[in-house]
Amino acid sequence: MSHHGSCLCGGIKFEMSKAPAAVVNCHCSICRDSHGATFATQGIFPAESFSVKEGEDKITEYESSTDFFRVFCKSCGSHVVNYPRNRMFYSVAVNYLEEKIQPEMHIWVGSKAEWYNINDSLPQDEKMDKLMAKLQG
Ligand SMILES: [Zn+2]
Ligand SMILES: [Zn+2]
Repeated sequence: MSHHGSCLCGGIKFEMSKAPAAVVNCHCSICRDSHGATFATQGIFPAESFSVKEGEDKITEYESSTDFFRVFCKSCGSHVVNYPRNRMFYSVAVNYLEEKIQPEMHIWVGSKAEWYNINDSLPQDEKMDKLMAKLQG
């Protein structure tokens, strides 16, 4: 099943041709700051499945940590996707997708906002070891 997304202004449209390998709520401080949110719900897609359909010229990137890039829309500021330099995966903000998909675990729980209590029964990963184990199959 493919997935489709667009940013707040609609200028950037993108598509993933495959299902995500994992869907996570990321509580790391960089996701929290770049999204301005308590945590970021991200679909981890195989890199080759991701393509920009429209608005390549609206894309700007920020290297938020060494070899890790965050992709924003120049017009509306939506933080639509991030990826490591080796393009092992594309991590897409689920909020921008047309198809609804559910998170399956929390990652970087050790860095979560201290005023927020996780109150669901999804597995919690102190960092992202469980996620990496899953991605590496
Ligand atoms: Zn936009
Ligand atoms: Zn994060």
